[in-house]
Amino acid sequence: TAQTENELISKYEVLPNYRPRDKFSHKGLFGHSLIIGGSYGKIGAVTLASKAALTTGAGLVTAYVPKCGYQILQTAFPEAMVITDASEENITAIDFDIEPTVIAFGVGVGKNTETVKAFEAFLKTNKIPMVIDADGLNILSKNQNLLELLPSDSVLTPHPKELERLIGTWANDFEKLDKAKAFAEKYKVILVIKGANTITIFNNKQFINTTGNPGLATAGSGDVLTGIITGLISQGYHPLSAAIFGVYLHGKSADIAVEDSGYESLLASDVIKNIGKAIV
Ligand code: AMP
Ligand code: MG
Repeated sequence: TAQTENELISKYEVLPNYRPRDKFSHKGLFGHSLIIGGSYGKIGAVTLASKAALTTGAGLVTAYVPKCGYQILQTAFPEAMVITDASEENITAIDFDIEPTVIAFGVGVGKNTETVKAFEAFLKTNKIPMVIDADGLNILSKNQNLLELLPSDSVLTPHPKELERLIGTWANDFEKLDKAKAFAEKYKVILVIKGANTITIFNNKQFINTTGNPGLATAGSGDVLTGIITGLISQGYHPLSAAIFGVYLHGKSADIAVEDSGYESLLASDVIKNIGKAIV
């Protein structure tokens, strides 16, 4: 990756990182993504993230959801395996007997006190790389002591409001970037600041994405990004490459999708359908 402090990410920067599949590949080579999240009425977020992870090339995907998500996931997305929490409507304990390569936490998960406790207990022992999004980020913002427990090189994907909750307010873009860099440095994480030109921050460097369009300003598009980045880490991409390449792919898929849908009608599912075209 980049030598400069500030790099614009387009096709020419991501292509050298792309690892094409070998003829003799088998699914054991591409890792197992575990997507933990969902709550009553928000199982769709986990479905989208799981679909995006597998569509990006993860070998296996398991969704970890409250009981109410079981039939929804098995029906909407038969390619995923499902583990259910003991609770009907929320995540209340994080306990599994699989060996995931990467774990995404947060999409649709809510901020129930039991969910917060479960996340804290999990972070105390977990060493598996993580992608944290949505209410996972909001839980971290409200319980900043948990930030110290994140495995290093975790990927955090806040939209502007979630970023503000994490790092506080800013007076201008310079201050925002300075605060974001200090945060990423302090907690040794990769910070993906989502927006029209998503900026990925790591180790005092910033990578500015050039793909994507206003069609992405729609429900579920962030959940798809979480799945894409998770699916890339699953296959063995370094979390920083996965974040940069993932943001690029997400935007590029949306750019292809809007050729058919136009901006207003783009759905997050359309982004997933075009990941394959964006990769090659
Ligand atoms: P979320 O708010 O979590 O659903 O995430 C929204 C996703 O869509 C992020 O990946 C944003 O970078 C992307 N996005 C939102 N609005 C735009 C825009 N106007 N142009 C390009 N990407 C966008
Ligand atoms: Mg979101």
